[in-house]
Amino acid sequence: STQTETFEFQAEARQLLQLMIHSVYSNKDVFLRELISNASDALDKVKLESMLDKDLEVDTSDLHIAIETDPDQRTLTITDNGIGMSRDEVVEVIGTIAKSGTAELLRKLKDAGDAESADLIGQFGVGFYSSFMVADKVTMVTRRAGESNGTRWTSDGTGTYTIETVEDAPQGTAITLHLKPEDAEDQLHDYTKEWKIRELVTKYSDFITWPIRMAVTKPATSEDAEATTEIETINSMKALWARPKDQVTDEEYNEFYKHVSHDWQDPLEVIRMQAEGTFEYTALLFIPSHAPLDLFMRDAKHGVQLYVKRVHVMDDCDALIPEYLRFVKGVVDSQDLTLNVSRELLQQDRQIQLMRKRLVKKVLSSIKDMQANNPERYKTFWTEFGRAVKEGLLSDFDNRETLLEICSFDSTHSSTEQTTLRSYVERMKEGQEHIYYVTGESRSIVENSPHIEAFQAKGYEVLLLTDPVDEMWVGAVPEFDGKKFQSIAKGAVDLDGKDESESDDAKSEQREGYADLLSWLNSTLSEQIKEVRLSSRLTTSPACLVGEEYDITPTLEKMYRAMGQ
Ligand code: ADP
Ligand code: MG
Repeated sequence: STQTETFEFQAEARQLLQLMIHSVYSNKDVFLRELISNASDALDKVKLESMLDKDLEVDTSDLHIAIETDPDQRTLTITDNGIGMSRDEVVEVIGTIAKSGTAELLRKLKDAGDAESADLIGQFGVGFYSSFMVADKVTMVTRRAGESNGTRWTSDGTGTYTIETVEDAPQGTAITLHLKPEDAEDQLHDYTKEWKIRELVTKYSDFITWPIRMAVTKPATSEDAEATTEIETINSMKALWARPKDQVTDEEYNEFYKHVSHDWQDPLEVIRMQAEGTFEYTALLFIPSHAPLDLFMRDAKHGVQLYVKRVHVMDDCDALIPEYLRFVKGVVDSQDLTLNVSRELLQQDRQIQLMRKRLVKKVLSSIKDMQANNPERYKTFWTEFGRAVKEGLLSDFDNRETLLEICSFDSTHSSTEQTTLRSYVERMKEGQEHIYYVTGESRSIVENSPHIEAFQAKGYEVLLLTDPVDEMWVGAVPEFDGKKFQSIAKGAVDLDGKDESESDDAKSEQREGYADLLSWLNSTLSEQIKEVRLSSRLTTSPACLVGEEYDITPTLEKMYRAMGQ
């Protein structure tokens, strides 16, 4: 036998494990969903690898998941004969947390109470570590398909884990949970009971496309016969997206969503699509109910998986959905692609581009529907994903009109409700030609900006744009519904149907009266500013700073500087 080595968990991993051990998450049952989900992913991978690499020494003759319970030892074992892990992979993926957003999550968890912690964990999803909600010791034996040696990993989840090499491990992964003694008396959490496992698999993992098998005891059929044990497949294995719409329940959609998204919460919206003809595909997409922690990080993942004729070929398929819709999760199953499509090929494929166009239109139209028919849900959507959607105004010219329709913004019209551009335009005053806006860091700052005074005095509504991305799109999008976007803090603003720079009698008279003051101010402040001029835009403040029409704004300047430009 070989040496046993002890390793320490990475600090972040240790912190999350602590939370699991103390079960901040009230629904402990979900650990089984996580382990089955991982096993299913591992089977997907070995299937694909064996099809792509015919020389790989793998056995794909009977791919499945098995669940075994031992009531006497109080253990539960989940086995798959999927891709497995090499020794290095075990250390890398089980000993550390590579998920982006981890630092952010831990920072939030630090000041969160128990209920809040559970909520945060729910948004993050802790996968394999959830085993420690129900087990005080976990053993994993795994062998990577094609490799000869296996690895045994053991831990009680506190600070360290051990690793040793095993020579006769079967292909794939077996995870054994030593269930916590305190749950032994608890009927509801007795995971050694057949009925309990069956209940959880039906509830959380029925759609898994690989058989989930368990030994079940059949009662004696006649008086002198004995009870027998049979291996039974306990899930229905039906691919959800391939089933008719009306035969799938909301519950099933929700659980499937959690499987593909690794989210622990229900989705906000389910989107289905089917294309027939020369290029056939089915899409089952979801809009989550909350933004992931890494939505605005550089390595944020796209959430759409690609299947080819029911075989999973790619995660986070960026060719299928544009960057600004990266929060959309789900599955696209194509009938007409080959299994060994590469990311590069997908990017160039004309059919894929058409598919992407249709998917985007479908997603945007469901957001529009939500906005029209379910304002509350739309509000949640916009709070969570609005900032990402607005990026589309800069990149997706085809859908610009639709995007402008689904956007909402703060405005001087209401201090609590956001407005759409459509409603803004409907409220425009007679004689008002432009859509006025001001950009800045926060609502309270821009609201108190002296620039706003004259507009408010005239009853003109001003959009208060406080997201960094607002600065970018508002400079790039020329108009909405024929109305130009006009910054109130830039260039000459015409509030009386005349330009400030234009001279009329009254103005030139005024200018003469103030000539001395103006030239004194101009020369005194020449280092700091370009020009001092009389203005009609102020009502109570004596002076304000304005930028030139084509200057970049202070916020944008800051943003570029932050990006290192
Ligand atoms: P996630 O599934 O979101 O990646 P998990 O914590 O559930 O996170 O799993 C972490 C990683 O461990 C997986 O991405 C995978 O690489 C590996 N893993 C877990 N379970 C298995 C398994 N049964 N077979 C192969 N690899 C696995
Ligand atoms: Mg997982």
